[in-house]
Amino acid sequence: AKNTASGSVCFYDASMDFAARERNALAIEMRHGIEKGEFELFYQQQNDTVSREIIGFEVLLRWRHGQRGMITPGDFIPIAESTGFILELGEWVLRMACIEAAGWKNPLKIAVNVAAQQIADPRFPAMVHQILIDSGLAPSRLELEITESGIVADQQRALHAIRQLKTLGVKIAMDDYGTGYSSLSTLQSFPFDKIKIDRAFVDGVETNRQSAAIIRSTLILAASLDIPVLAEGVETEQHIDFLRNEGCLQVQGYLFGRPTPRSEIEHVVNAVPPL
Ligand code: C2E
Ligand code: CA
Ligand code: CA
Ligand code: CA
Repeated sequence: AKNTASGSVCFYDASMDFAARERNALAIEMRHGIEKGEFELFYQQQNDTVSREIIGFEVLLRWRHGQRGMITPGDFIPIAESTGFILELGEWVLRMACIEAAGWKNPLKIAVNVAAQQIADPRFPAMVHQILIDSGLAPSRLELEITESGIVADQQRALHAIRQLKTLGVKIAMDDYGTGYSSLSTLQSFPFDKIKIDRAFVDGVETNRQSAAIIRSTLILAASLDIPVLAEGVETEQHIDFLRNEGCLQVQGYLFGRPTPRSEIEHVVNAVPPL
């Protein structure tokens, strides 16, 4: 019956219903999840390409769901975005991240992902300001990662928000560089403090000459604009060798560490900082 037209249609409809129901259920469960303390911040180290020292952490959200187990952001962030819940969830992440980092003895930087809808929310800069005050985190230790989709919708508003955030002393990174509509003018007209090259390019660097060329030209462009570059998805010694040779000074990836729970970075963040 699977091969008949009607059978296929039947199966297709049923699976669509299932997917839609799943999404709705997850959207409702997310709010309860926050209340029940099921969301957790994971941290992935960022490293200096030459010294290999940890220079900071990216904060990556995880959901320890009571029944479903660990859920990665790819499975719930899109739903949070389509339901508008991302505003609430994003605020929670930012607040928790700032509170946690403010308590570290070693004042490393944290990079927090910010969704397009957060940037578009006119209350966002004031909210960040309030969170910095409440947590006591030094603004220079906070970096907000914004993707191009976060700025293309309303460029003027995004630029205004970014300027306000920078006035607070917060740093702004362009995330997933190369995957969107990345244009030279975007880089020129937005005052980014960092460019994060998407891992898709790093992944192909040994075999794909185009990936290598894109990384090289990004590094040249960024250098001419005086913007530091971090390459994501660094998994092998070949990756880091290539990047170091091309003058990329910062990396992040499984070679140095996967996203890990707070308890596993304790020894790093609570080490007495070097003088
Ligand atoms: P992203 O911001 O590009 O984060 C990097 C992703 O690449 C993370 O996936 C990380 O685990 C993964 N990754 C890091 N190094 C490597 C590597 O060497 N190899 C490979 N294959 N992967 C690597 P994750 O944690 O599943 O997050 C996926 C995406 O979900 C993030 O992509 C980000 O867009 C979003 N996200 C995560 N947390 C938040 C959050 O708090 N707020 C918002 N708005 N989005 C978030
Ligand atoms: Ca990111
Ligand atoms: Ca990224
Ligand atoms: Ca990404």
